[in-house]
Amino acid sequence: MGETIFTKIIRKEIPAEIVYETESVLAFKDIRPQAPVHVLIIPKITEIESAKDLSKEKHSQLLGELFEAANHIAKKLGVFESGFRLVLNSGPDSGQEVPHIHLHLLGGRKMNWPPG
Ligand code: AMP
Repeated sequence: MGETIFTKIIRKEIPAEIVYETESVLAFKDIRPQAPVHVLIIPKITEIESAKDLSKEKHSQLLGELFEAANHIAKKLGVFESGFRLVLNSGPDSGQEVPHIHLHLLGGRKMNWPPG
Protein backbone atom coordinates (compact mmCIF):
# COMPACT_ATOMS: atom_id res chain seq x y z
CA MET A 1 0.00 0.00 0.00
CA GLY A 2 1.25 3.48 -0.80
CA GLU A 3 2.00 6.35 1.46
CA THR A 4 -0.80 8.62 2.56
CA ILE A 5 -1.02 11.86 4.47
CA PHE A 6 -1.55 9.70 7.56
CA THR A 7 1.82 8.00 7.07
CA LYS A 8 3.43 11.43 7.28
CA ILE A 9 1.47 12.21 10.46
CA ILE A 10 2.60 8.91 12.02
CA ARG A 11 6.22 9.77 11.20
CA LYS A 12 5.66 13.29 12.57
CA GLU A 13 6.70 14.74 9.21
CA ILE A 14 3.62 16.94 9.18
CA PRO A 15 1.94 18.40 12.24
CA ALA A 16 -1.24 17.08 13.79
CA GLU A 17 -2.97 17.69 17.08
CA ILE A 18 -2.33 14.33 18.68
CA VAL A 19 -4.71 13.33 21.47
CA TYR A 20 -3.65 9.71 22.07
CA GLU A 21 -0.71 7.54 21.12
CA THR A 22 0.47 4.00 21.83
CA GLU A 23 2.97 1.73 20.11
CA SER A 24 0.32 0.66 17.60
CA VAL A 25 -2.36 3.37 17.54
CA LEU A 26 -2.37 7.12 16.91
CA ALA A 27 -5.28 9.54 17.28
CA PHE A 28 -5.37 13.18 16.23
CA LYS A 29 -7.92 15.91 15.62
CA ASP A 30 -9.52 16.01 12.18
CA ILE A 31 -8.37 19.04 10.24
CA ARG A 32 -11.96 19.68 9.02
CA PRO A 33 -14.02 18.93 12.12
CA GLN A 34 -17.66 17.97 11.58
CA ALA A 35 -18.54 18.17 15.29
CA PRO A 36 -17.10 19.86 18.40
CA VAL A 37 -15.16 16.63 18.98
CA HIS A 38 -13.80 15.03 15.80
CA VAL A 39 -10.82 12.75 16.17
CA LEU A 40 -9.31 10.25 13.75
CA ILE A 41 -8.05 6.99 15.27
CA ILE A 42 -5.64 5.02 13.10
CA PRO A 43 -3.35 2.02 13.36
CA LYS A 44 0.29 2.86 12.82
CA ILE A 45 0.72 0.00 10.37
CA THR A 46 -0.06 1.16 6.86
CA GLU A 47 -1.15 -2.11 5.25
CA ILE A 48 -4.89 -1.80 5.95
CA GLU A 49 -6.51 0.43 3.37
CA SER A 50 -10.09 0.00 4.56
CA ALA A 51 -12.49 -2.37 6.31
CA LYS A 52 -12.40 -4.70 3.32
CA ASP A 53 -8.82 -5.68 4.24
CA LEU A 54 -9.63 -6.77 7.79
CA SER A 55 -9.54 -10.36 8.98
CA LYS A 56 -10.20 -11.83 12.39
CA GLU A 57 -7.02 -13.89 12.21
CA LYS A 58 -4.71 -10.95 11.54
CA HIS A 59 -6.40 -7.96 13.12
CA SER A 60 -8.43 -8.97 16.19
CA GLN A 61 -5.99 -7.42 18.62
CA LEU A 62 -5.56 -4.24 16.61
CA LEU A 63 -9.32 -3.78 16.33
CA GLY A 64 -9.63 -4.19 20.08
CA GLU A 65 -6.97 -1.55 20.55
CA LEU A 66 -8.71 0.89 18.18
CA PHE A 67 -12.01 0.60 20.04
CA GLU A 68 -10.31 0.80 23.43
CA ALA A 69 -8.58 3.96 22.18
CA ALA A 70 -11.97 5.36 21.15
CA ASN A 71 -13.37 4.86 24.67
CA HIS A 72 -10.27 6.37 26.22
CA ILE A 73 -10.41 9.44 23.96
CA ALA A 74 -14.17 9.86 24.45
CA LYS A 75 -13.55 9.99 28.21
CA LYS A 76 -10.60 12.34 27.84
CA LEU A 77 -12.56 14.75 25.63
CA GLY A 78 -15.71 14.63 27.72
CA VAL A 79 -18.17 12.82 25.45
CA PHE A 80 -18.14 9.31 26.93
CA GLU A 81 -21.34 9.80 28.93
CA SER A 82 -23.18 12.09 26.51
CA GLY A 83 -22.48 9.71 23.64
CA PHE A 84 -20.42 9.72 20.50
CA ARG A 85 -20.43 8.26 17.02
CA LEU A 86 -17.74 6.07 15.47
CA VAL A 87 -17.62 6.11 11.67
CA LEU A 88 -15.52 3.91 9.44
CA ASN A 89 -15.80 4.92 5.79
CA SER A 90 -14.79 2.12 3.47
CA GLY A 91 -14.47 2.55 -0.28
CA PRO A 92 -15.69 5.04 -2.88
CA ASP A 93 -19.43 5.15 -2.14
CA SER A 94 -18.75 5.82 1.55
CA GLY A 95 -16.76 8.94 0.72
CA GLN A 96 -13.48 7.54 2.04
CA GLU A 97 -10.72 9.97 1.06
CA VAL A 98 -7.64 8.58 2.76
CA PRO A 99 -6.77 4.92 1.99
CA HIS A 100 -5.45 4.16 5.47
CA ILE A 101 -8.09 2.66 7.75
CA HIS A 102 -9.35 5.12 10.35
CA LEU A 103 -12.18 5.51 12.82
CA HIS A 104 -13.82 8.91 13.05
CA LEU A 105 -14.86 9.70 16.62
CA LEU A 106 -17.53 12.40 16.56
CA GLY A 107 -19.25 13.96 19.54
CA GLY A 108 -20.22 17.07 21.41
CA ARG A 109 -23.46 17.62 19.50
CA LYS A 110 -26.67 15.74 18.73
CA MET A 111 -26.15 13.53 15.65
CA ASN A 112 -28.69 12.96 12.90
CA TRP A 113 -29.74 9.67 11.39
CA PRO A 114 -29.63 8.59 8.60
CA PRO A 115 -26.20 10.04 7.84
CA GLY A 116 -25.69 11.93 4.58
P1 AMP B 1 -12.37 9.77 5.13
O1 AMP B 1 -13.23 10.64 4.25
O2 AMP B 1 -13.17 8.82 5.97
O3 AMP B 1 -11.25 9.10 4.38
O4 AMP B 1 -11.73 10.76 6.18
C1 AMP B 1 -10.51 11.39 5.99
C2 AMP B 1 -10.44 12.52 7.00
O5 AMP B 1 -9.10 12.93 7.11
C3 AMP B 1 -11.27 13.76 6.62
O6 AMP B 1 -12.27 13.99 7.61
C4 AMP B 1 -10.22 14.87 6.58
O7 AMP B 1 -10.71 16.09 7.07
C5 AMP B 1 -9.10 14.30 7.41
N1 AMP B 1 -7.78 14.81 7.14
C6 AMP B 1 -7.17 14.90 5.93
N2 AMP B 1 -5.93 15.40 6.07
C7 AMP B 1 -5.75 15.61 7.39
C8 AMP B 1 -4.67 16.13 8.17
N3 AMP B 1 -3.51 16.51 7.62
N4 AMP B 1 -4.82 16.21 9.52
C9 AMP B 1 -5.98 15.84 10.08
N5 AMP B 1 -7.04 15.34 9.40
C10 AMP B 1 -6.92 15.24 8.07
